[in-house]
Amino acid sequence: MLKSNSMKTYQLAFLLLTIAVIPSVAQVQNRESLDPKVTEVWEPKAKKVNPGALPGDVPSDAVVLFNGKDLSEWTSLDGIPAKWEVKDGSFTVVKGAGDIKTKKVFGDMQLHIEWRTPAIVESEGQGRGNSGIFLQERYELQVLDSYESQTYRNGQAGAIYKQHSPLVNATRKPGEWQTYDVIYTTPRFSESGDAIIPAYITVLHNGIVIQNHVEIRGPTEFKGLPVYVAHGKASIKLQDHGNPVSYRNIWLREL
Ligand code: MG
Repeated sequence: MLKSNSMKTYQLAFLLLTIAVIPSVAQVQNRESLDPKVTEVWEPKAKKVNPGALPGDVPSDAVVLFNGKDLSEWTSLDGIPAKWEVKDGSFTVVKGAGDIKTKKVFGDMQLHIEWRTPAIVESEGQGRGNSGIFLQERYELQVLDSYESQTYRNGQAGAIYKQHSPLVNATRKPGEWQTYDVIYTTPRFSESGDAIIPAYITVLHNGIVIQNHVEIRGPTEFKGLPVYVAHGKASIKLQDHGNPVSYRNIWLREL
């Protein structure tokens, strides 16, 4: 009786394995007879986006977050107008004016932003050209003068602050303009507020990949480990860390 049962179990397992394996084997063997049109996708057509005539042009579907003239797209965190200095097509942190953030809120995005640390080097490490781009007001992509400067690696330019070090140091000299191109997906939260899918980020610094689809572990913390707290769409926030860091040519495509 026992032997008969184990034989049935064996037969059943063999049958299930056969069902699982045979179709894929058959498909491989018959691939030449398949119609390639079956796996083609034609509709709906991809939406057309004009990339502009030259590299660096703003794509036609981008939200422009700085027009080169004023901070109309930005506000101080307390809601009063942003008090950073606008000059010569860029704007600069005014020490003590506080962080600023976009009036519009965003989720998944492609972000282009250009930044420049002061040409005159006055300090070292975290005190040298420090600012930061906080995605969704929470997750800091570090802005820092990391050109031949010493600091902790997961706090240098291009770090997801205290979470992920940049793969390489692609920093230009102080006083030179630099670019970040960011691809970011917002975390997804359950109804009870758990982060069921974390945020992910890819960053190119001056065209070089420095963060390759890394998992953001929670909001940026100066001390201790991050813990996610549920949120919806949110602003881009720029940090006043007391250094006159400048920004220009900021645009964003919602994904
Ligand atoms: Mg910073």
